[in-house]
Amino acid sequence: MNNLILIYLHVVIKLNILNNLIIRLNKMYFLRCISKRYSIWLGILLVAKVVGITAVYAKPVVFDVRSYDHGEFTRFVIDLSEKVEHKKIHHFIDPYRIVIDLPALNWQAPLKRESKKEGLIASFRHGLFNADTYRVVIDLESPAVVKDELMSPREEGKLYRLVVDLIPSSRRAMLSSRKMEPIINQMNTSRPFKTIKFAAPGRKPQFVDVHKDVKKIVVVIDPGHGGIDPGATTSSGLLEKKIVLLAAKFIKSAFERTGRHQVYLTREKDKFVRLRKRFKIAQNKRAGVFLSLHADSIKSKKIGGMSLYTLSNKASSREAARLAKKENEFELRAGYAFDDVPETETLIQNMLLEKAKDGFKMAQMDEIKESKHLAEELNNELRKIGKMLPNSLRSAGFAVLKSPDHPSVLIELGFLSNPKDVRNLQSKSHLQRIASAIVKAVEGFCSRNSNPCTPTFHVRRN
Ligand SMILES: [Zn+2]
Repeated sequence: MNNLILIYLHVVIKLNILNNLIIRLNKMYFLRCISKRYSIWLGILLVAKVVGITAVYAKPVVFDVRSYDHGEFTRFVIDLSEKVEHKKIHHFIDPYRIVIDLPALNWQAPLKRESKKEGLIASFRHGLFNADTYRVVIDLESPAVVKDELMSPREEGKLYRLVVDLIPSSRRAMLSSRKMEPIINQMNTSRPFKTIKFAAPGRKPQFVDVHKDVKKIVVVIDPGHGGIDPGATTSSGLLEKKIVLLAAKFIKSAFERTGRHQVYLTREKDKFVRLRKRFKIAQNKRAGVFLSLHADSIKSKKIGGMSLYTLSNKASSREAARLAKKENEFELRAGYAFDDVPETETLIQNMLLEKAKDGFKMAQMDEIKESKHLAEELNNELRKIGKMLPNSLRSAGFAVLKSPDHPSVLIELGFLSNPKDVRNLQSKSHLQRIASAIVKAVEGFCSRNSNPCTPTFHVRRN
């Protein structure tokens, strides 16, 4: 008997909660706006799920998910009962996925949609990720990035749509998008949604793009040597470390004048920076392009001209191998123990093995290929303004070029053993011409390259 009373009380309490909620829901503006079909449906849902009723009331409801192949892009649409404010989109590789994090919600979309292949989308999955996050994972057919996303009402006051447009892309761009995510959040320059301005009655609502950020390409310029490591010297005692720092400053201002680049130097002063620290700086600054500046010196005074070097396991020539060995060993001469700097070839092999373990070997090879393209662009522009060495595109195991994250080229600006090169490198107008040629080459590379010069740095346009 006692048990029966308890059950009776339990049911009465549940029904009371249900009643109160329905009254409260009815008072809410959005329910009045929801079409008759959905309010009946929602009502049935409320009654059917007495136990889970609070959850239904509190969380936005996903009614449907649709995707469309538009050829150039694939559109993924989530129909929601209300606007969701908290949202993040991530790009993942191995396998290629786009992950959309929504606030905790009630998923009521038809199951059959999940395995439907459409354009770039192979299938999708979803589930509660943690107490506050509901995660939608889109499995991709091939690499893709989010081109655009927006939250819009289907009709004013009715269902909301989260629209995500995907475009075909590359593995590298997906990796770059991943790296960009924290910096966007950290700098608070990118809002998750376009805002919707409601128009006067009878007129369509206007979408206002709040993504007024300009993406700047990050260029990291590395003036070689510095501090206790002077690099090469001229017969009159001019030091490579000073010449390349001056050149770096000219190049920096030339990039900055375009307004399209964010430039960092690995050293602004005459100080010693270790080789591995130099490309670490570029990685930390999320460099799109890394340029290391040097000037060589040899016995013969006759040989002069510029040359470009990219990373390779095997040197392109004996001369390139000599130079790489020399540039790498300056660090040893600066007083660092030999075992601190492994033999460059071993270094590169280890790096490739390390990356292979992580599944990034292909990315590294891509980067070397892209570095070569960048070197070609630099070669084409620099040859217009100055003398180049024969076979000026070379490769060797330069430790400073070993980053797998960005195209890296080492530029030998000339020979400190050649009087004409020394005169040029002391001439401001010549340095200016070099700077302009380098800017032109990098811009050409970034615009022609199928992979944009990302990672990028986000700044807000004033
Ligand atoms: Zn050097």
